[in-house]
Amino acid sequence: MNASHDTCFGAPLSRRAWLGGALCAAWGSLSAHAAIRSPASGHSVPILAYHRFADSAVDSMTVRTQRFEAHLDTLAQLGAQLIPLSDWVAYRRGERPHLPERAVVLTADDGHRSQAEVLLPRLKARGWPITLFIYPSAISNASYAMTWDQLRQARQQTGVSIQSHTYWHPNLVRDRRTMAAAAFEQAARMQLHRPREVLRQKLGVEAHLLAWPFGLSDAGLQQMAEAEGYRAAFALENRSASLNDPLYAVPRHLMVDSLDEHELARRLRHAFAQSTREE
Ligand SMILES: [Zn+2]
Repeated sequence: MNASHDTCFGAPLSRRAWLGGALCAAWGSLSAHAAIRSPASGHSVPILAYHRFADSAVDSMTVRTQRFEAHLDTLAQLGAQLIPLSDWVAYRRGERPHLPERAVVLTADDGHRSQAEVLLPRLKARGWPITLFIYPSAISNASYAMTWDQLRQARQQTGVSIQSHTYWHPNLVRDRRTMAAAAFEQAARMQLHRPREVLRQKLGVEAHLLAWPFGLSDAGLQQMAEAEGYRAAFALENRSASLNDPLYAVPRHLMVDSLDEHELARRLRHAFAQSTREE
């Protein structure tokens, strides 16, 4: 679909870059005035969202280590190219002309300590990147969470990016219904602003990406995130991300233990086939 719009930002451009170079340069200067280009065709990119890991599936958000390893094997077997989330954002914003074929992004929310113990070593072994969305109030505080020292160590790992999941993980959509308007606006602004300050102070990180707690947001919150300076924000919708998705509510696949390697393979193949069709 939308193949007629496809000048430089269309899907797997690697193959056509040789003939699109001049067009792309012209389009680049035209679109320089538009902060974000209008959605057109392009890669369908699975962005996977993990939470925690254990030997047994103790709750709905816990993926067994064994299952996680099967997921990683499936990604490798299907030839997935693991890219940093910021590369997808640059592509979505029109700042990057193309992505590798079979691009896939890994993310993990909440800063659970099993991410340091199970997730990061396995990604290090494969040289794969990941974005960790943390909410600072839990770090070095909640018993289940990583410490600031662990996050400092995580940052040393190539490809690990640490970004914002608000300050204390509120359900902002519910809060808008239950709080007085002015109080809600103030609280929501704090939730978006404070993690950026803390990440700067504690880790020297300029957080520019946001994962909505519970994946939930609304149009007003999305505008607030943009005004706060975030370059994109992420939801949980169990479908792959395309250029047609709103930049401040980008879908991610919620990875749970019941999502086995066959279902993951099905979703990956679906996304890869869509990207090929749009070429
Ligand atoms: Zn969360």
